[in-house]
Amino acid sequence: MRKETAILIGLSSYKQKEGVVKEYMDELEFLALTSGAVSKKRFIQKLHPAHPSTFVGKGKINEIKEYVKTHDIDIAIFDDDLTPSQIRNIEKILECKILDRSNLILDIFATRARTAHAKTQVELAQYQYLLPRLTRMWTHLERQKGGIGMRGPGETQIETDRRIIGQKISKLKEKLLKIDKQKSAQRNNRGALVRVALVGYTNTGKSSLMTLLSKSEVFVENKLFATLDTTVRKVVIKDIPFLLSDTVGFIRKLPHQLVESFKSTLDEIREADILVHVIDISSSTFEDQITIVNETLLEISKTQKAMILVFNKIDKLEKNKINELNETWMAKLNNKSLFISVLKKTNISELKKELYKIVSKIHKKRFPFNSNIYN
Ligand code: GDP
Ligand code: MG
Repeated sequence: MRKETAILIGLSSYKQKEGVVKEYMDELEFLALTSGAVSKKRFIQKLHPAHPSTFVGKGKINEIKEYVKTHDIDIAIFDDDLTPSQIRNIEKILECKILDRSNLILDIFATRARTAHAKTQVELAQYQYLLPRLTRMWTHLERQKGGIGMRGPGETQIETDRRIIGQKISKLKEKLLKIDKQKSAQRNNRGALVRVALVGYTNTGKSSLMTLLSKSEVFVENKLFATLDTTVRKVVIKDIPFLLSDTVGFIRKLPHQLVESFKSTLDEIREADILVHVIDISSSTFEDQITIVNETLLEISKTQKAMILVFNKIDKLEKNKINELNETWMAKLNNKSLFISVLKKTNISELKKELYKIVSKIHKKRFPFNSNIYN
């Protein structure tokens, strides 16, 4: 089958550095690729804020229209969320599928969801995303639930659809509540073992680190959001057992609905004793990524936890840069920070030592008489 072709459209503000915009667009292209589209061209305009009716300016949108026509483009992907009226206007001009970043992320999540839990969460997020945008979308919706009693006099199709979606949302919420109860029971059954959660931006190496530390295969892929469900493994370092969980990665402009409906998946993070924040130090926007992860973490849980910062992929840095690392702010944090490479297994024993230090402290507090009993 022919892959769908896409163009990417983003804005840069005057303050932003060139490299940052490029990195954002790279990420958008990666998202497009993950969802199966080939990106043919990027259109970036220096404009802030976005044009209220066409996102980019009039001249730019016509330039894009020309390109879409001559190159037979299937999808125009915008780096920011579009308003319903922007979508309507742009669709009229470009005459191709219009997606924004949230669409793309939701779409990827939908294809990645494997368990009933993840599927329900994604479906809920999709309906919540759809609800305020119904003005354009109503024609695409199933309407089998209409009919007697549903379509009161004068009620428009949009209102009907809005009601159907509202009902779906409450059904999904009920279903989630049930699953959450089961999950929470499962977690309680695990006992009082110390819990460590791997957190971080998407594609930083969390699952790879999980595989390495737990010596069991966890799905690793050079794609965004390879892992949607949390995996939990028991790990023993020296004489201390603990539970290690791999969690879904975060990303810039993660749709708010997604964070909301994934809160139960993120329970693993909320209930963890220790967070290991995995960072891809080879990314030129890794500092941005740290901020985004910290902000998302705050949204999930207000309590501060012990955190180890793990700067991964140092194998991708040049030699002289590695030598300089110990002089950087990263090495001087209150939180323990480590520079590692999962791929080359560099500094993994240091990481284990650090984990052991923190885990055993909590473990010994919880099991004061026999630290080995739950082995
Ligand atoms: P996750 O999304 O955080 O779970 O990341 P994954 O563990 O799935 O890894 C994402 C990609 O980064 C994969 O292609 C890994 O092989 C790669 N990767 C992980 N650790 C390292 C590392 O230390 N060095 C390099 N060069 N690549 C790595
Ligand atoms: Mg993963």
